[in-house]
Amino acid sequence: MAEYKTKVLIIGSGPAGYTAGIYAARAGLNPILVSGTQVGGQLTITTDVENFPAFPSPIAGSELMTRMREQAQNVGVKIIEDNIVEVDFKTRPFECSSERNNLFSGETVIICTGASNRWLELESEKKYRGFGVSGCATCDGFFYRGRNVAVIGGGNTAAEEAIYLTNFAGSVTLIHRRDTLRADKFLQDKLRNNNKIHIEWDSVVEEILGTENPLSVNGIRIKNVKTDQQKTLKVDGVFIAIGHHPNTEIFKGQIDLSNDGYIITQPDSCKTNIEGVFAAGDVQNQHFRQAIVAAGSGCIAALEADKFLSKM
Ligand code: NDP
Repeated sequence: MAEYKTKVLIIGSGPAGYTAGIYAARAGLNPILVSGTQVGGQLTITTDVENFPAFPSPIAGSELMTRMREQAQNVGVKIIEDNIVEVDFKTRPFECSSERNNLFSGETVIICTGASNRWLELESEKKYRGFGVSGCATCDGFFYRGRNVAVIGGGNTAAEEAIYLTNFAGSVTLIHRRDTLRADKFLQDKLRNNNKIHIEWDSVVEEILGTENPLSVNGIRIKNVKTDQQKTLKVDGVFIAIGHHPNTEIFKGQIDLSNDGYIITQPDSCKTNIEGVFAAGDVQNQHFRQAIVAAGSGCIAALEADKFLSKM
């Protein structure tokens, strides 16, 4: 167990966290960043990023995050690989304890814990998670060379995962609960022009089917919500891409959260209801969940923390 004291404690290591770190370090605040369990955040499990400025060619999400981390370290951010499990925002400096029994105290805290995959919450999905059910095409797509897979969802993630999976799979069925996609037009065009991809519209997953021994997916039962007709598709893998929920469990009771669990911040600001505690990135913004937006809000949070500290 170790004790760490800092002016700026950053929780989370996605674009928001690293950017907050870069700005706080350059303001001479010697920030400490606690990385969380998914070091680098959600971008580490995405494929090519084509819309982050300054990269004329696509850059892998994991590579982008490695570069942000290196930049943060180069300007003096102290990065600790650990996971905060409890926070106390009622005392000052704020105290946060970790999975590895470390105690962090910060005169300010910037929360950048992001969001995580949502699941369908079917019993069969839980049963086969890791045995044919996945939340990450980049991580698991490779195992489905020449096989048939399904992707659930109609947003950008689902579209990107479906397209990515065609690099390996024999066929990809996109299953979406409505008759229009939420994904960007650019991705919709890519989907339509890929003859390995078939879309099942207006359809929901009733059950994921498979064998017991070994535990392995071999099909999916879906229902058309307009006709109530059910059908079974033969697939070996199911990728769930139905969005995210904010990682705010440890902040319940400590800070104001919206009904759906996001940290509430003041308009045009990363300030929370607790003076000295800021929130940046997907954990406080469910509308524009983009790396560049998260990075921008990490910057705002660091500037606001600096201003707060200068008045102390
Ligand atoms: P979204 O919330 O955008 O989309 C989730 C999709 O899953 C929707 O189509 C939704 O259906 C469907 N869905 C939600 N719940 C269920 C359920 N219980 N059963 C079946 N389907 C369900 O999430 P994404 O992860 O796709 O994207 C998150 C954010 O990240 C977005 O802002 C997106 O633009 C961004 N993003 C950007 C990328 C890029 O620019 N390259 C890449 C990936 C993500 P419905 O449409 O009916 O609501």
